[in-house]
Amino acid sequence: MYLGDLRFVSMEHLSFLTTRQKKILEKMGLTSIYEILTYFPFRYEDRMQISSIETSLISQKPVTTLVQVVAHESIFFQNRRHPKIIVQDDKMRASLLGFHRPYLTKHLRIGEKYWLYAQFVMKYNEIQTSTFEFEPYQQGVSPKSFGKIIPVYRLPSELHLKEFQSIVQKCLDHYLPQIEDEIPLYAITGHKLLSKREAYQEVHFPTDFSLLRKARLRIAYEEIFAIQIAVQLRRRALASYTKHTRYSDTHTAWSFMEHLPFSLTTDQKKVMGEIEQDLLSSQPMHRLLQGDVGSGKTVVAFFAMLVAATNHHQAALLVPTESLASQHYHTLAAIVQDKISVALLTSSTPAKERKEIVERLQTNALSLIVGTHSLLQPDVRFADLALVVYDEQHKFGVEQRLALSKKGNHPDLLVMTATPIPRTLSLTLYGDLDISILREKPKNRLPTKTYWIRAKEYSKMLDFVRKEIEKGRQAFFVYPVIEASEKLELKSLEHYHQQIQHKLAPYEVVWLHGRMSPEEKTLALERFRSHQAHVLVSTLVIEVGIDVPNASVMVIEAADRFGLSQLHQLRGRVGRGEYQGYCFLVTEDDISEEGAERMNILCQTDDGFAIAEADFKQRGPGDILGVRQSGLPELKVADLCDHRFLAMCMEDTRRIIAYDPHLALPKHQGIVEGILKFLPMDYLSSG
Ligand code: ADP
Ligand code: MG
Repeated sequence: MYLGDLRFVSMEHLSFLTTRQKKILEKMGLTSIYEILTYFPFRYEDRMQISSIETSLISQKPVTTLVQVVAHESIFFQNRRHPKIIVQDDKMRASLLGFHRPYLTKHLRIGEKYWLYAQFVMKYNEIQTSTFEFEPYQQGVSPKSFGKIIPVYRLPSELHLKEFQSIVQKCLDHYLPQIEDEIPLYAITGHKLLSKREAYQEVHFPTDFSLLRKARLRIAYEEIFAIQIAVQLRRRALASYTKHTRYSDTHTAWSFMEHLPFSLTTDQKKVMGEIEQDLLSSQPMHRLLQGDVGSGKTVVAFFAMLVAATNHHQAALLVPTESLASQHYHTLAAIVQDKISVALLTSSTPAKERKEIVERLQTNALSLIVGTHSLLQPDVRFADLALVVYDEQHKFGVEQRLALSKKGNHPDLLVMTATPIPRTLSLTLYGDLDISILREKPKNRLPTKTYWIRAKEYSKMLDFVRKEIEKGRQAFFVYPVIEASEKLELKSLEHYHQQIQHKLAPYEVVWLHGRMSPEEKTLALERFRSHQAHVLVSTLVIEVGIDVPNASVMVIEAADRFGLSQLHQLRGRVGRGEYQGYCFLVTEDDISEEGAERMNILCQTDDGFAIAEADFKQRGPGDILGVRQSGLPELKVADLCDHRFLAMCMEDTRRIIAYDPHLALPKHQGIVEGILKFLPMDYLSSG
């Protein structure tokens, strides 16, 4: 049996669980033994060293100590009597305050010795603590929760830590001996890794800190190993397809590029060349295009789509938001004029028009389509879908990606992302894709000047914005919430909009947020785009892709509430045309240290790669990259910033697949049965 098989062993098999415990675990999302065993402690308490009350006072940290109870007293608090237990270790006395724990005197008896874990403070002229754990001391008997490292799990208040520890221990005792290792033995011995069983025992109940470190390393290894095997097998599978689509002419598509209002950068031309080669090849293209915000990815996608269309095939561009879809549609329509048919499909497309589009797609009367999730609906079928492009791909889950690709016969695939990812990392996560990078920004770009604004500079900033508007520029104001929030001390977006309108009158300020109807959104955006409105106040909806080259100012309110990559994306909305861009990060005077660090990083650099690296360090890469939506196994322990470690895992799996491409050897059975079996269906076979 492999650990993954325990996904299918439900709690019902644990006869020792009470109904109450089962309910709590279920609420925590722990519905199988697998989930319990992979619910790792988030920290550990060091109760190895026996220390003293004095040490706790000095270090202001909890300690383990051995005490004797010397007296029972009591204190009055809120009209009630609560026990106060006086203890002493070799050096000093302290009081244990048992608020609402009247039974304590029974458990802590005068004259007896106890193990105690507590942090002591000096208060009201005595040394005291009110949160403590204890266990009777018995000579010659080793204590249960002392003298060792104690795992601490994130738990709801109804579930006591000791209860959960005991559940985990029982699961380990019962199931661990049956668990086999999915990692080949030679890799384990080669890297001196712990075995699966050792690792899971030690990560929950470490013998010492060095073994704990090894346990975590081993689990990190298997996490990356699983992803790598999946990604590389997929790469092989994809390479084995022959596509049916044939291209004879790329010249016509190139000629469209000659009529753009700008000349392409060298990087754009290079990437278009790579895509051209992919399209001409007999295997489906599988390419990831990375480029910082404003690097000009869209036109590259259009080029690929034009190659498809000029060869009488169909191409679809899937984008995460309606406003972005409409923007891309208009740009594309302007490029192709009436030489190629192109349509826009979103949830606000009127039914009659939608029906017509669907029909034209089925008969190949429509070559190019730009759309949102609406494109994924089952009745949207294509006569000859040869190319699929995803913009802002991390906004889509694997299921959605598969859904569109399946509408064609192994179509060529281009995915685009504005979150630059360090190379080792992108190889780890997207190693099944070829990677192109737009490093160079279009020539006329000046880096956006970024300032951190606090209360006393605010009105000066508004004066500046007004001057920019007078010069003919436009401004974005981004606000973190729609409804007022007492907790964050923020007024509603509506209130904020009125305030800005008032301050910038007579210029027109429109507003936009995610809960508006599609018509309202389009209207607001159109007014801004057409320069009838001078300022757009909005929530984060403008994070992705909106392109208004005339806008030169981006004001971000409560900027410390946003992550680094988000802020960088927002900043990328300005400085896209020939005008100098300005970004103002507005915060309270007093913000967290991490928040301040983010502001400083943004003021210092405009380099998306540097910012992405800093973001990984602050937040961990999980949610940035959408690892969770990728369909790949989740990472709980692995540190995606550890490039050397990633490279090592990658090299191991690469060798395995090169040597045994079908994983047919007995020593690789664990990989098949313990890893591949648990990938999402279709993962290996579909694009
Ligand atoms: P992103 O990579 O963030 O998606 P876009 O494709 O939206 O960037 O491009 C940003 C802006 O730069 C658009 O207004 C686009 O027309 C313009 N642009 C793209 N390529 C060039 C170029 N080579 N020279 C000048 N402007 C360009
Ligand atoms: Mg874009």
